[in-house]
Amino acid sequence: MQIELLTIGDELLLGFTVDTNAAYLARQLAAIGVEIVHRTTVGDDAEKIAAAVSEAIERTGAVITTGGLGPTADDRTRPVIAKLFGRELVRDDAIVAQIEARFWRMTSAKMPQTNIVQAMVPTGARVLQNNHGTAPGLWIEDAEGRWVAMLPGVPREMRGLTADSIIPILRERIGVAPTAIISRTIRTTGIGESALSERLGELGKSVHGMPLAFLPGWAGVDLRLTSRTLAPDDAVRALDAAERELRDVAGPVVYGDDGDDLAKLVLDSCRDRGHTIAVAESCTGGLLGARLTEFPGSSDVFRGGVIAYDNSVKTKLLGVSDVTLSTRGAVSEEVVREMADGCAKELGTTIGIAITGIAGPGGGTPEKPVGTVWIGISGLGETRALGRQYVGDREEIRLRATQAALDQVRRGIASL
Ligand code: ATP
Repeated sequence: MQIELLTIGDELLLGFTVDTNAAYLARQLAAIGVEIVHRTTVGDDAEKIAAAVSEAIERTGAVITTGGLGPTADDRTRPVIAKLFGRELVRDDAIVAQIEARFWRMTSAKMPQTNIVQAMVPTGARVLQNNHGTAPGLWIEDAEGRWVAMLPGVPREMRGLTADSIIPILRERIGVAPTAIISRTIRTTGIGESALSERLGELGKSVHGMPLAFLPGWAGVDLRLTSRTLAPDDAVRALDAAERELRDVAGPVVYGDDGDDLAKLVLDSCRDRGHTIAVAESCTGGLLGARLTEFPGSSDVFRGGVIAYDNSVKTKLLGVSDVTLSTRGAVSEEVVREMADGCAKELGTTIGIAITGIAGPGGGTPEKPVGTVWIGISGLGETRALGRQYVGDREEIRLRATQAALDQVRRGIASL
């Protein structure tokens, strides 16, 4: 089945809101074999909305809109589409009662009269219950089966209505989807895009006939496989087999699946093995600690850390020797080793992780240019150090450094 998507809102055109609704709907619908073949965005302008919807109705005959169902004057979707279909807007008292009850529950206040417009329903339209907000969704259809489904713009409400109404309705219409578009992502780190592509050889182009996309970012290179031509069950089986092969060939650079955060994986494997972590951070200024404390329950593993930005903190709190600092410099293999050992010792943990580097944009020298980073891991056998040279801006260098440090812990634990 092919459909069109129209996202409505001035803020989308101005760039103040990123159109996450479109991305979300595309992914959800693809999974049930519904393809978005045309995507349009218009502002809160009655004529533009009318033109975009009637073109989509002519072209594809199946349209989902998001936005413009609110109670304010710039919310025009409902009356515009009702008019296009030649329908009256009629007040639905059951919806009024629902909105009133919701207001009372959420705010202990009476519903403002402006919200009555959200209870206006085009004659003959189907009301899609909104369990996450005030404005219900609406499904309007003409005698030839051409339809528009109107969803609210607020992402949480749109997602709820998609799951509760849109997917079940579309599933029923298409019966068993002949094909589904399903993707699978494998996350790698510690290897560049070209080196990974070389390692994968022919698989780098396609795996079992499915195209492979390389998606580089600060966390590493994600590999995304997409099945477009198979029935849903066959697609899942094919993806399972392709993923196994890809993981085998890519080897230890693979650390997780779609949505996995390396910090969480490291916390979990430390918890399983009874390890505790302390950090000593110079150029990352607490970023590694922040990543590790993002997850509930991290206190089982993460004890704390020292932001050792100035050399005096490295010596006083971590026991780094003045001699090492003056002979090797703050960004050096020797100093990072002493920082890692120092934080583990001072905080009494089994693992110490240290990062020192030059995040830029200033501070680089010919011997130690911007992007030079040293990572030290104490515990997990001997203290190890790893030197890296990153490209990118300050933020990227700092994020990459935390990722590389976590990856060293992951590999260290795996090798024991
Ligand atoms: P409400 O009933 O809350 O007014 P609505 O249907 O009128 O909902 P809009 O007013 O168009 O929706 O949008 C509400 C908010 O939802 C916007 O301020 C914006 O933050 C967010 N939003 C709208 N459209 C999108 C979109 N396509 N992607 C992501 N967020 C969106």
